[in-house]
Amino acid sequence: MKPKSWVDYFFAALAMVLVGCAATTSPAQAVGADSAKAQITILYDAFGKSSSMQKDWGYAALIEYGGKRILFDTGNNGDTLAQNAKAKGIDLSKLDFVVMSHRHGDHMGGVAYLLSVNPRVKIYAPKEGFGVYGADLPSTFYRKDESLPSEQRYYDGKPPEVMRFGAAWPGANFQLVDKNIEIAPGIHLIALVSDKPGTLELRELSLAINTAEGLVIIVGCSHPGIEKIVEAATKINPRIHLVAGGFHLVASKDEEIEKIVTALRDTYKVAYVAPGHCTGEPTFAALKKAFGERNLYAGLGTTLTLGATPRSIAEAARNIPAAMDEDDLQSYRALLGKSDDHEYSLLARRAD
Ligand SMILES: [Zn+2]
Ligand SMILES: [Zn+2]
Repeated sequence: MKPKSWVDYFFAALAMVLVGCAATTSPAQAVGADSAKAQITILYDAFGKSSSMQKDWGYAALIEYGGKRILFDTGNNGDTLAQNAKAKGIDLSKLDFVVMSHRHGDHMGGVAYLLSVNPRVKIYAPKEGFGVYGADLPSTFYRKDESLPSEQRYYDGKPPEVMRFGAAWPGANFQLVDKNIEIAPGIHLIALVSDKPGTLELRELSLAINTAEGLVIIVGCSHPGIEKIVEAATKINPRIHLVAGGFHLVASKDEEIEKIVTALRDTYKVAYVAPGHCTGEPTFAALKKAFGERNLYAGLGTTLTLGATPRSIAEAARNIPAAMDEDDLQSYRALLGKSDDHEYSLLARRAD
């Protein structure tokens, strides 16, 4: 056998260190990476920086928090949702559960596609009388008349205790929600009903996650009123860290926008906002003015990293690991540049 030179010893030692690292850090990263992930990715919206994603009216976001993967709404169109999820490398067959905010088409247009890749996923949806997500009622809801012959009576006069009504997607695993509930530790749904003309009696679910910094709230369209949703959320935790999603001020007058923006900032002391969807262009401008740096850009493809200082990472930078600040990004880019370096690639080859 040829005697080993110091170079061979050096690379053997390096290889052992690398193998050791892989053995000790890989399993931890596999679990830790997911459970440590705390971010919201905007999968559906009508504004954003140019990318391979398709802009369209509607809303959908993937929330990754505490090891859970939650799809919030499905956008306007299944093909577009599929394209956008693919562009972000997001596998919609791997979800812990789905939250449907309300019954409007620009939020549920992708349900059929979702079910085609994930047929039994649990879907929390607002409970409404004879609603599209299905419904049930106790049979005591209708008046009885025992003087009638049985063939003139519903169910021959022997109704089931609970009468169930079909959903637009038969076989889907809908969990109907009509009140505020905690669906997983620290993960809440806020259920409110709209009293606004045009959406009267529409029930909407908002997602509220209790984080170390306060509540992170994701709203679909805020038909019951964004300030009412935030007010309801303060009963879970008075500290509101971030509100993301559609605030539904798309056609509102300046005075109304001003009143709501001020209430969010001064009354509810919302720390950060990440407005999208039906918030409206003048409201984007008003929030930017009122919240300054605490107004996070949330166009299509953006990833919002959660934590003490949430950040907005735009679609164009999506291949760069999340949670990096400008300094990190600079050294990351420098490192990427270096990988073409002769010395660096030689080392890498020997380490294999
Ligand atoms: Zn809506
Ligand atoms: Zn909407």
